[in-house]
Formats: sequence, C-alpha cells, structure tokens
Amino acid sequence: MSEAMNGTMMYQPLTVGSLIDHAMQYHAGTEVVSVETSGDVETQNWGVVAENARRLAAVLDTLGVAQGSRCATIAWNNRRHLEIYYGVAASGRITHTINPRLHPDQLTFIVEDADDQVLFIDRTFLPAVASLKPRLGNIRHFVLMGGRDAEAEAMLDGLKFYDELLGEVEPLSEWPALDENSAAALCYTSGTTGNPKGVQYTHRSLVLHSLAGNQPDGIAIAARDTVLPVVPMFHVNAWGVPYIAAAVGAKLVLPGPNLDGDSLVALLNDQAVTLALGVPTIWMGLLEALSRTGKKLDHLVRTVVGGSALPPSMLREFRDKYDVELIHAWGMTETSPLGTVNQLLQKHDALNDDEKARLREGQGRPPYGVSLRLVDEAGKCLPHDGETQGDLQIRGHWIVESYFGKKQTALTDDGWFDTGDVATVDGDGFMIIRDRSKDIIKSGGEWISTVELENIAIAHPGIANAAAIAARHPKWDERPILVAIRDENSNVTEKEILDFYEGKVASWQVPDKVIFVDALPLGATGKVMKNQLREHYGDALLKEGA
Ligand code: AMP
Repeated sequence: MSEAMNGTMMYQPLTVGSLIDHAMQYHAGTEVVSVETSGDVETQNWGVVAENARRLAAVLDTLGVAQGSRCATIAWNNRRHLEIYYGVAASGRITHTINPRLHPDQLTFIVEDADDQVLFIDRTFLPAVASLKPRLGNIRHFVLMGGRDAEAEAMLDGLKFYDELLGEVEPLSEWPALDENSAAALCYTSGTTGNPKGVQYTHRSLVLHSLAGNQPDGIAIAARDTVLPVVPMFHVNAWGVPYIAAAVGAKLVLPGPNLDGDSLVALLNDQAVTLALGVPTIWMGLLEALSRTGKKLDHLVRTVVGGSALPPSMLREFRDKYDVELIHAWGMTETSPLGTVNQLLQKHDALNDDEKARLREGQGRPPYGVSLRLVDEAGKCLPHDGETQGDLQIRGHWIVESYFGKKQTALTDDGWFDTGDVATVDGDGFMIIRDRSKDIIKSGGEWISTVELENIAIAHPGIANAAAIAARHPKWDERPILVAIRDENSNVTEKEILDFYEGKVASWQVPDKVIFVDALPLGATGKVMKNQLREHYGDALLKEGA
C-alpha cells in the first residue's frame, strides 16, 4: 500500500493486557468478590487483581517459563484464577484452562497435547492431580492456588504456593509488547466423540469478542452491574465475562465451588448481583431452591443462559415468579463462544409478553463480527426463511480457523466453520437450533427434533429433567424415546407424559416410550451426554420386539 493511502491514526495492538490495565487505571476500587475453596467469601478489588497479575508475570519470568509456553489451570471461578488469566496471557504466555471433571485419560491427553509447563491447582483438585502426576511428565511447576499448606505439600513433591511466590517478587512494571495475533488462551472442546481438540484464542480475537459481545444487544454488562459468572472459567473463558468485566469495570462475583441452588440464591442476594450467567442445568437447581424455600431474588435483573438448549418454561418462570429477564445465547468453544444472543428488535415492541417470550426461546441473532449461513448435505446454501433446516455454518473475527497443533484448516473450502448444529435462521438473523446433527432423530425418513420433545417434557410439572434420544427401530429405522427424571414429589406415569404431547407435536413425533431414571449422565460442562444414553437405551424398543 502506498503511503498516501495509509490512514493517520494510532495503532495499538488489541491485547488482553490492555483490558486489565484499563480496570487498574479507572476501576481499581471496584470489588472482586470470590468464594474460596474453603467456602469463605473474600472481597478484593480490580486494583489488587491487576497488581497480582503483574506479580505473577514476574514469578513466571523468575521461574524461566518462556514466552509462548502454556500454563494450565484446574480451578474453580475465583480471584486467583482471574489473576492467572491476566498474569499468564498479558506477559506473553498462554492460559490453558482445564475442565476438572474430565476423565483422567482425557485430562492427561490434554496436558500432553498442550505441552503444559506450569499447572495451577485449586486445593479441591490436588489429590486427583497428585495421583496423576506420573502421567503429567512435561509439567515443570505445580502451583497450589493459596498459601503454604503442609498437608498439601506432603501430597505432591515440589509443590509451590501461589501466595508465597507472589510475595517474593516485585510486580512487573509493564507488560511486554505483544503481537495482537499471538495466542493468549487455550480451551479444549468437550470431546463427546474422539479426543478433545484445542482451540487457541488470540489476543485480538478475545478483545474483539469482548467488545462486540458486550454491545447493548449482546451481554450488555455495564460498570454499574454486579456480575456472577456461574459458567466455569474453564468453559470457553466463562463466555468472555472475565475480560468484559475488566473492560467495563463491573463488580465481579466469583462463586468458587458452591454451585448448588441454595448457595447461589444466597450469593446472588448477599452480593446484590444484577446479572448472572450459566447453563440451564444450573438454573434448574436455582429455581428448585427458590420454589422449595419461597425465597426471592432481590437484585437480579437478568440471566444469560446458553451452552445447551433452554427449556422454554424456564424463561417464563424467571419472568413471572422472580421478575428476571432471561437472555438466551448460543455458542461453542470454537466460537469464543458468543455466536448469537437473543435480544429483540424495535419492530417487536408491539408484541404481547407471550409472543415476545416465544421469540426469545430461540438462540437469537449474531452481533456485528460474525455471520451465519445454512447449507444442505451437498454444501448448497439454503434460504433464511425461518423454516428451512440446514447445517449451521459461521464465520467471523473470533471463530476458529484450525485446531491447536493441527496443520489442516477446520474450515470449508470457502472459509466457513461447520458447527455440527442443525438450525433455522429467519430473515432478521434469528437462529433456532433444531438439534445437534448427530442427535437428531430420523424416523421413516422424517426428522424429529429432540430439543422440541425435551422442551415439552420439561414443561410438564411432574418432570424435573428429560432427554430425548433415537432408539433403533425395525420398521422406522429410528424412533424417539424419552429418558426422564420425575420431579421430587411426583408420581407422573408414562401414559400421562405421552398424553401431554397431544396437540403439541405431530402424532408420529410423539416418543414411543418414557424411561424414568434417577439421574441423567451429565458431561463436564453440565450437558446431558446423549451418546451415553444412546448406548444404554438405544435398543430399548428392539428388546420389546417393537
Ligand atoms: P461447547 O463447545 O462445549 O460449548 O458446545 C457447543 C455446543 O453446545 C453447540 O454446538 C450446541 O450444540 C450446544 N449449545 C450451545 N448453546 C446452546 C443453546 N443456547 N441452545 C442449544 N444448544 C446449544
């Protein structure tokens, strides 16, 4: 480009360090509240977090951890974890958040694949890590996220203590200059099939995701908010909240290990939380605790719900009983994660509450920075008419291009990422997930959405949770069956549930069978593991000679 064509504006790289610097400069006194692994609640502020992040960077320098090294965490949402997010990434290393609920084989696979050099561990997970240590060959430093602890020291040879390390150094005076396209964070996909794959976010993609995802039609966190990310910091960077909260200077409340309904009600009310974010399973626990105790949510204004399909009854229960607005969002590890957020348009103002609620049950529309398309099995683009279903593809500034350590692209020939979801999109961009392509049921050549069947079941007062899966069938190839958990005091029968479907779906879409269970298998991020259910119950109709 010739010089005459250049614009004449400053260039500053979009880096994670610039987010925490902003919080330090303008919001140092704003509180960061954190539930410790002991259950104690501590109150610090952004100033302390920012200073400790700089101390941690100095510690990593002293330990000789090279730039570009992956430093992993196995931790709850808490203040030290937040400091690690910034101290590691802003100093040119890569924060690799590991899901503690992974199977040990997957966990050791991930640590090896990422070639992690440092592992920061919360006390809760130390026994598990200590027993795996012989298989965690490349990790040079194991750091307990807390003060010196003799019992812990006896469990793992050479264990270092976070608070001690930070106390021994002066904070770094300034972050090193970094290329905005260098890696800042690493997360692995849930890996329900095959080995998990790493998605490596750049400084630039994280900052753009924070800015665009937080628009008024996005998550819309403001400095006056108090935000509680129940979504784990190991689940796609807690949906970007740790970065967004620093960029706007919001008060942050980090719930630590206490994620049951009663603990969350207490934390939401004690800390006057205005916005909370989490997966539907978490909110089911919260709503159950509220209805059991008769408590109210004194300050909560909004919840953002995503990660798996939203039961529509949840939207109405939050609205009608607790005056809380539920905002449905969709995304994946590969999309940083925000792909769509459900905020209505001006033209919807005239609709009544029920019509609005129905629109808001969908996954919403993309913010500036990402776009969606639907394609058929041959890759041909399908219309966005709100009715035609197709494979959902996405592209944008914070969408994966290739998986960590893999040379080949993860994209289609023309540069789109195939999500594996089956969806419809309407003319305004409102997207509705109809299914995962591998979950959808194909009965006699016709598609049946498991999401729709589950939503109806969960709306029945006698059902606490339910999953619809495909069961093999000699005539129809596949037929839907429902695996359901009864509500605590309910004796609801199979027939009552099946009758409940009448008039809500076509008669051939009604499940063939309901199997009642005490619990559904949940994956590491709180999603129902449908592949396990299919393994268990996939022959349920054959056994009966159906
Ligand atoms: P993960 O990478 O573990 O976050 O999983 C991403 C997948 O979760 C998506 O491809 C969807 O299948 C599912 N998912 C995420 N958000 C939603 C949502 N709001 N409704 C339905 N499915 C969702």
